[in-house]
Amino acid sequence: MVLTAAWGDVAALVETVLPRRCAACGGPGGPLCPPCSVAVLATRHPGGARLVRPDPCPVGLPPTVATARLEAPLRGLLTAYKDADRRDLAPVLAGLLAEAMRVSGEVDLIVPVPASRRSRRRRGDRPLELLCLLAARTLPGRVRILRALQPRRATRDQSGLDRRARADNVRDSMQLHPGARCPAGARVLLVDDIVTTGATLVEGSRALAEGGLVVRAAVIAATTRTRLSGAGMPTSVGSWKPP
Ligand SMILES: [Zn+2]
Repeated sequence: MVLTAAWGDVAALVETVLPRRCAACGGPGGPLCPPCSVAVLATRHPGGARLVRPDPCPVGLPPTVATARLEAPLRGLLTAYKDADRRDLAPVLAGLLAEAMRVSGEVDLIVPVPASRRSRRRRGDRPLELLCLLAARTLPGRVRILRALQPRRATRDQSGLDRRARADNVRDSMQLHPGARCPAGARVLLVDDIVTTGATLVEGSRALAEGGLVVRAAVIAATTRTRLSGAGMPTSVGSWKPP
């Protein structure tokens, strides 16, 4: 399914959820007060979005760009956005995601990591897809956002699992959506909100690669256990070639 939204629809959705307190400190000036906005920007990698690798790096991880470090107050904002009904944070988080998307170079399709059925029931919507729609509006040209992946089986919540358990939990858990029309060889940007061990991106990439797609990945934030690729310079992967 190709995801589209008129800008008015998205703005209306964001407007309908207008909690008025800062999501980070609880003070006035929501969704994010000026001091907390500065603190969130301080989680960005020096020089901006860049290639990252979890340490240890799992086999099959696509080249992955992250904008920021997964630490306070950004970590709390991501949780508040997804699980505490703070959809008014969407423009803030989409701005950070867009930065990773831009550094990831030219692609043909954007594919969000699918939410588990349990998450969809609990949240009632797909918050990652809203971020993709908002972020993609800032990219040059028109890139299709496609719901190309779907869960193949139930998985446990990844939080609280160690690296090996996470990998076991998601292995073979995704598949190409039967209705997705993805031309073989298309360049796909797989999008998630965060990368920790990399297990989810490995699984999404595996399922897309089975359909003949060439995969890179972009996330808002990477765990602080993640190594940066490159030596302090912003890293463009615009010339990235499949291995
Ligand atoms: Zn604040």
